[in-house]
Amino acid sequence: MHVTGSCGSGQGKEDLRKGCRCAGKTLMERMRPVRVAVVGCGAIGSPLIMQLLAEPVIQEIRVIDPDRVELSNLPRQPWFTLADIGKFKTEVMTDYRPELITGVNVALSDRNALDVLEGMDIIFDGSDNWEARQAIQKWSFSTRRPWIFSSALRLEGMSAFLAPQFLCLHCLFGSLQQGPRCYEAGVLGTVTLAVAGQAMLLFHGYLSHMQDPGHWPQGLFLIDGQLGQIRKIGLSAVRCGHGTR
Ligand SMILES: [Zn+2]
Repeated sequence: MHVTGSCGSGQGKEDLRKGCRCAGKTLMERMRPVRVAVVGCGAIGSPLIMQLLAEPVIQEIRVIDPDRVELSNLPRQPWFTLADIGKFKTEVMTDYRPELITGVNVALSDRNALDVLEGMDIIFDGSDNWEARQAIQKWSFSTRRPWIFSSALRLEGMSAFLAPQFLCLHCLFGSLQQGPRCYEAGVLGTVTLAVAGQAMLLFHGYLSHMQDPGHWPQGLFLIDGQLGQIRKIGLSAVRCGHGTR
């Protein structure tokens, strides 16, 4: 049996640029190399990083996570095995693809965000941590670059493309503080996978119009793991002013 239409099996990046028909030749030609950071390599960050490895435009994936691998990580984070317990998560990932993945084993905070995220084009949030999200927002205001918010708890998740040109964390949630964490309240693995997939779709929307913020993806996407549905809340009327105050 032959499978046709497969994209780039065994090809190098240059071949993909020339040959990929999935994204369209015009789109591939106008893309420039992109450097991304993933903050947190847990149940959302792990599948995100795996998918980013397959993206031909990625020049660097910077993974930021202070944690070491624990036994409880293994069921939802297939990056890790029993042999990795006790190692830094970032160490396991950089060992796997050192030419693409760089690791920073610190907790992202308001104090270190601009240093740790320096040079990145876009940030993925896989953090489950309000302080880290506020630090990413600070970077976004400072650089005028976008980030993709993600969150999951129990049977529900959400994802949104945030950019200081139109929408930020404060527009979405006001002064909301840290709620229950995944490890406290539990989360369905298929929900975190769906959130990571939605975040990748938003990333592709960004890649299509990197130099044109007016066409960046907008809206808050709500993933309902019980009904198996994704619902979009349109937020195109919001005009963020927080970054200029
Ligand atoms: Zn705002």
